[in-house]
Amino acid sequence: MTKVFYFNQFRECTYVLWDSTYECVIIDPGCQTDREKERLADFISSAGLTPVKILLTHGHFDHILGLEWAMRKWGIPAYMHPDDVEQLEINDRLCAAFGIDFSSQGVTTCALPEGTFRAMGGTFLEITHTPGHTRGSVCMYCESEEILFSGDTIFQGSIGRCDLPGGNEDVLLASVGRYLPSLPRGTQILPGHGYATTVGEELDTNPYMVYLD
Ligand SMILES: [Zn+2]
Repeated sequence: MTKVFYFNQFRECTYVLWDSTYECVIIDPGCQTDREKERLADFISSAGLTPVKILLTHGHFDHILGLEWAMRKWGIPAYMHPDDVEQLEINDRLCAAFGIDFSSQGVTTCALPEGTFRAMGGTFLEITHTPGHTRGSVCMYCESEEILFSGDTIFQGSIGRCDLPGGNEDVLLASVGRYLPSLPRGTQILPGHGYATTVGEELDTNPYMVYLD
């Protein structure tokens, strides 16, 4: 089961994923204000969930504004692809450019391995490195729930921006073109911004996928 929150001025999607064990993972904790952090914490406690891990689709600041807070609050580790550790340093410059008072220096993450990864309880995610939006962007596929957490790699009708440090459109198009057709068409895509979609819908209508033909 999943729950989505839209946090911070970028309307970043933070997800909670849980299963019948009532353990959960928090994906991309972008909660910035006290009110946003309270909404996330209230949901988790009222649903009776126990967070066991934080998983990051990538290291951009809008996806980790609540990372340190969440790690401390629940005493849990955060996992991110090692190629995005550089983003934690770049973030300071990006935040200055966007006028946001935030630093992710000093945040320590564990390496998120590619392949099958136990998220919590009896739930496994298939982690695939899909660079292009950032060097260490990943997609996380949950076969048991038939959902894909696509981060900022794939959006409804679009793909992530490639003009920030570490971004590369050729690399992103290659990642998406290789990865998306490998998934069942009915898979629900839960992106890092905007609305949910499906693999089939994107293969048929996303201009960046049509472009690949
Ligand atoms: Zn991003």
